[in-house]
Amino acid sequence: MGADKERFTTGLPEHLLCEICLGVSYPPMVLCAQEHIACEGCLAQIQASPAKNRCPMCQQAISTPVRASLALKRAIEGYKYTCRHGECDWTGAISDEEGHARDCGSRLVRCYRCDDSYMSKDWLGHWRVCAGAFVSCPEGRQACVGTPEDCGFFKRRDLQAHLENDCTQRKCRVTKGCNTRTTYANLPDHEAGCSAAAKRIQELEEALREKAAGASPRKTPLHSQNVHLTNGGRSDGLHTPLRECSLPHTGGSTSRKRTLDFATDSAAIGAPSSLNASSVTGTPVACSIADSLVKKQRRSSGA
Ligand SMILES: [Zn+2]
Ligand SMILES: [Zn+2]
Ligand SMILES: [Zn+2]
Ligand SMILES: [Zn+2]
Ligand SMILES: [Zn+2]
Ligand SMILES: [Zn+2]
Repeated sequence: MGADKERFTTGLPEHLLCEICLGVSYPPMVLCAQEHIACEGCLAQIQASPAKNRCPMCQQAISTPVRASLALKRAIEGYKYTCRHGECDWTGAISDEEGHARDCGSRLVRCYRCDDSYMSKDWLGHWRVCAGAFVSCPEGRQACVGTPEDCGFFKRRDLQAHLENDCTQRKCRVTKGCNTRTTYANLPDHEAGCSAAAKRIQELEEALREKAAGASPRKTPLHSQNVHLTNGGRSDGLHTPLRECSLPHTGGSTSRKRTLDFATDSAAIGAPSSLNASSVTGTPVACSIADSLVKKQRRSSGA
């Protein structure tokens, strides 16, 4: 077979085609004294046939040795040829195509890790998805060491099984700011409790906000003694997550912003009962917000 006509950017004149297969006769072999032309493939077939000494076009004796026509060869090289690798934009002389194709970015390369093929210029893109590439656990990072045979990494194809079966670092997906990490099997239980606790905290915060918005300014800063109070600093067992109060009062140089401690660690999430009114005992808090919160909780818990 001659060179593929379709791979030239323009059509070639007939005298450059193989007279037997009608492909491009490159290199163009001169068969006989009449200078009939054939491609190398067709010449080999003629020489292997019983009539190997006769030109199929004129029946004259085949020249010995058969040479290529250098003039016709140069004429063919004057036409633009395209790369054998489909998505490549390269065009050039047919004589240069083989050298280009060896390093062409569009040539398909077989990945020795996963056996898939990819275009050589896309090696980085393939590496990002290669099933045989080494990766670390996206949830556990350094906490999840991979297999010893993979030098402490996982092969990407093994990662899903790790995440579903072995990984103890799966992150809570329901509450923003929750730092709990556990196994995939334990996630549903945690997340159910976590979202319930987060919802309760939000309700309490809204109640406080409403109360603060409706309260009138006092002349005496009754609650000033509780500013900077934290749960850990109290001995009376008040677990209400109130840290500061923003009730406007005279005498203060700045209006303090009320903030709430969100229960974000696993211990607090696992024990939402710490927010119940039943655990609030001891000295009543001077701050009217905390008072009303405690009353509200008692009402809602039916105590
Ligand atoms: Zn031919
Ligand atoms: Zn001939
Ligand atoms: Zn190419
Ligand atoms: Zn691969
Ligand atoms: Zn992991
Ligand atoms: Zn959580």
